[in-house]
Amino acid sequence: MVGIVLVSHSRALAQATRELVAAMTGPGLPLALAAGTGENRAELGTDATEILEALQTVLKEDGALLLMDMGSALLSAETALGFLEDADRARVRLCAAPFVEGAVAAGVSANLGLSLDEVAREAEKALKQKENQLGVPQAPAPVPAAEAAFANGAEKSVEAVILNPHGLHARPAAKLIQAAGRFKDADITISNATTGRGPVSARSLSSVGGLEILQGHTVRLGAHGPHAGEALEELRQLIAAGLGEEVSPLPAAVPQKKQEKAASTPRGEAVAQPLGGGLALGPAFFADAALPEVAAAPGAGADAEAKRLEAALATARKDLTAEYGKAHASLGAERAAIFEAQLLLLDDPALVETAQSLIKEGQAAPAAWRESAARLVAHYRALEDEYLRQRAADMVDVGRRVLAALGVSVPPVFDLPEPGILVVDDLAPSDAASLSPRRVLGVLCRDGGTTSHSAVLLRGRGIPALVQARGLLEALRAGTTVAFDGTSAEVWIDPDPALRQKLEARRQAEAAARAAEEKAALEPAVTKDGHHVEVLANIGGEKDAASARAKGAEGVGLLRTEFLFLDRPTPPNEEEQVALLEKIFDAAGKMPVVVRTLDAGGDKNLPYLHMAPEANPFLGVRALRLCLREPELFQTQLRALLRAGAGRDIHLLLPMVSDLSELRLARAALETAHAALEKEGRPHLWPAPLGVMIEIPAAALLADSLAREADFFSIGTNDLTQYALAADRGNSALAALQDALHPAVLQLIASVVRAAHAHKKKVAICGEAAGDPAAAQVLVGLGVDELSMSPARIPALKARLRECAYGDLQALAAKALALENAAAVRALFAKK
Ligand code: PEP
Ligand code: MG
Repeated sequence: MVGIVLVSHSRALAQATRELVAAMTGPGLPLALAAGTGENRAELGTDATEILEALQTVLKEDGALLLMDMGSALLSAETALGFLEDADRARVRLCAAPFVEGAVAAGVSANLGLSLDEVAREAEKALKQKENQLGVPQAPAPVPAAEAAFANGAEKSVEAVILNPHGLHARPAAKLIQAAGRFKDADITISNATTGRGPVSARSLSSVGGLEILQGHTVRLGAHGPHAGEALEELRQLIAAGLGEEVSPLPAAVPQKKQEKAASTPRGEAVAQPLGGGLALGPAFFADAALPEVAAAPGAGADAEAKRLEAALATARKDLTAEYGKAHASLGAERAAIFEAQLLLLDDPALVETAQSLIKEGQAAPAAWRESAARLVAHYRALEDEYLRQRAADMVDVGRRVLAALGVSVPPVFDLPEPGILVVDDLAPSDAASLSPRRVLGVLCRDGGTTSHSAVLLRGRGIPALVQARGLLEALRAGTTVAFDGTSAEVWIDPDPALRQKLEARRQAEAAARAAEEKAALEPAVTKDGHHVEVLANIGGEKDAASARAKGAEGVGLLRTEFLFLDRPTPPNEEEQVALLEKIFDAAGKMPVVVRTLDAGGDKNLPYLHMAPEANPFLGVRALRLCLREPELFQTQLRALLRAGAGRDIHLLLPMVSDLSELRLARAALETAHAALEKEGRPHLWPAPLGVMIEIPAAALLADSLAREADFFSIGTNDLTQYALAADRGNSALAALQDALHPAVLQLIASVVRAAHAHKKKVAICGEAAGDPAAAQVLVGLGVDELSMSPARIPALKARLRECAYGDLQALAAKALALENAAAVRALFAKK
C-alpha cells in the first residue's frame, strides 16, 4: 500500500488532518506526520530529519506520497529526500495537492490499493470538487483514459436512490469507493442521474464528490467485466443500507432533502415539525440551555490556569465516556454515538488552543474556556448548512460540562418544578438524555432540527417533542396549559375545560398503558389460560446484557458474537475472547445465555479472511459454512466459549445449519476443543448444550433428523423468510414478501415445532418477528416455547401476550396456515 507523510508547519493541523483521513479510511493506513519543531513539536516549522524518519516508517514497496502545507515545508521535504538512497527516492513523490483535501483523497485511494501514480493523481484532483461548488471556471480537464472508457458506456448498470440525509458526503462516499475498489477488474463508474453529472470513476473520492449527490438523487452505477453484476449488486445493497449511516425510506413524491412536512395546528397554520411520541399536556415551562455567565476573577497565573483547564478537560472526558456507556446500554450504539461526537468536540484543537491562548493573555481558565466555547457556538449558529448549525447545541453542552468541571455553577436548566412541558430554544444532547420523562411530559423547541442529536435522543426516550416551533411559541406564555401530539404535531394552546378533559384522558390512557407494561416487565408472560411463554433478549455485548435484565428478559436467547470479530484487522485471540465473553456472562448474572458461534459472511465481511467476492453472499460461504472451512478460527472460538462458560448456564447455537452432517462436523469440532482443554487441564463448560438455528428451509424440512441430535432449536425468521420467499432481506422493494407471517414460513415453523416437540426439544424464535406483537401471537399459537427479541421490546410484548388466551392463538394460527399471504394473516390477527 502507498504510504503517506503529512508535512506541516503545525502539529495540530497535521494531527487533525490525520483524524479526517482516518475517518474516511479506518485504521491500517500507513500514514506518518512530520510537523512542528522544538520541544514537543509545539512550535511552528518543519524539520527535514523528522520528515526523513516519518518517510522511513511508511515507505515500502509501493512507494510514498508527501503532502506539504506551504513554503519551507517543500524545502525541508526536498532536503529529506536528498538523504535517501536512489532506489528509495524513486519511490517517493512530492505532491502539489492542497494539504487537507489532498490528504483525504490520497488516503482513500491508497487504502484501495491504487498505485503511487494513481494516488498522486487523485490527490491533485482533490481541489476540483470545491472549485465546482464555488463556480470557479474550469479549464477543460483532459479525461483520464480510464474515465474516457467509462463514458463510452458500461456493459451493465443499476440505479439506486441515495437515502442519506446529507447526501453522498465524504464518509458514505468513502465507503462506496472502498467497496467499489474491491472489484478491481470491474471498472465501476458512477453518475448523478438526477442532475446528469458524470459518469466518473467510482474509485475516485474527488470525482464522486464533484457529482454533488444529495438525498433523493438517483445514482447510476456502471461496470464492465466478469464481476460487473455482482459488484453492482453489492454497491446497490450498500447504498440501500445507507453506506454506514442510519437511513430510512424516503416518503413517496418528496424526494429532496428536508422532506418533513411542517406540522399544522387544527387551524391549519404551519407551526412546528414533529419528532414523535404520543400526546403531551401540561403547563409550559420556559428554559434556556446556554453557556452560563462566568464572573471575571483573577487567575493563578498562566501555567496554573492552563493545567486547571487540562484537568477539567480530563474530567469532562471521563464523564462523557461514562455517559456514552450509559446511553449505549439504555439507548443503543447508534444513539450513544452522539456522546462520541461530543468527545471529539472536546478535543477540537481550535477550541482548546483558543482557550489556552486566552489563558496566556491573562484570562483565568473558566473565562477563557467560556469565551472559546462561545466563539465556536456562534460559528456553528452562523453556518448555512442546517446539519452543522445543529452542532451548536452539542458545543453548548460540551462547554457547560467543562465549566462545571472548572467549578463554575452551571444551573440545571431543565429541573421542572412540577410535571409539564419544557420549552427551550434548543436542547443539548446530554440534557435530552437526562430528562426525566416523569417530569418532562413533552418538549417544545424553538429551533432544533429533526436530525439533531437531541432529537435522536428524545425519540429514543419516547418523550413527545416538536421542533422549529418558533411561530407557535410566540403565542405561548409561561404557565399556560399546552397540549400537542408528538406524532401528528397537532397543538392546542390553552384548551377549554371540556377539550382539556378529553385530551387528558387520552394522554393518561397512553401513558398508563406504557407504564403498566414497564411495571410488569419482570413478571412472566402467562396467557389468560395459564400458558407461559418464555421471553428472552437478543444482545450484542455486555451493556445490552444489563439492560436485558432490567427490561424483564428471562434469559439471553441470542448473543451475536460477530462484534468480537468485525471492524478489526486481525481475528481476536483466545484470551481476548475469553475475557470479553466472561464480562458479558457476568453482566447476564444468573440468566441462561445462548451464544451463537460466529455468523460472518453474507453482509458481514471479515477483511482479514480475504473472502472471495461472491455473486450472492447471502447464499455463500457464511456462518457455520465459513467456520467449518476455517478450522483454526472455529477452534479458537469454541475453546474460548467453553472456557468462558465454565460453571455457567451457557448454551451454544450454530447459525446457518443446512443438514445433519454439518451439525455432526460442528459437534466433532466442539469435542476436539473439549479434549484439548481437558488435556491442558483448563476448567471449561462440559457437556455443552448445542443447538441449531433453523434459518435455511432445508433445515426446517429436515427438522426431524436434526431434532434427534440437536439439544434445542432457535428459528431465525429473518433469514428463514428471505430464503423461503427468495426475497433478499436488505431489498426494500420486496418488503411485502419479507414478512415472517407469510403462510409458507408459518408452515415451515409449524413443522419444526412438531419435530422438536416429538423429540422433547424446545423451540425458540430469535428473528425480528419474535418482538413484533402481532407476529408473536401467531408464533405462540404455533407452539414455539420461547421468544427472543431486543430488550426494549420486551415489556410491550409480554403485556400483549398476557391479554391473549393460548387456546384462541392456537385456533387462529391453525387458520393462518391456510391463508394466502402475510397480509391476510395480519388481518386475521387484527380482527381478534
Ligand atoms: C435470523 O436470521 O433471524 C437471525 C436471528 O440471525 P441474523 O439476523 O443475525 O442473521
Ligand atoms: Mg440469521
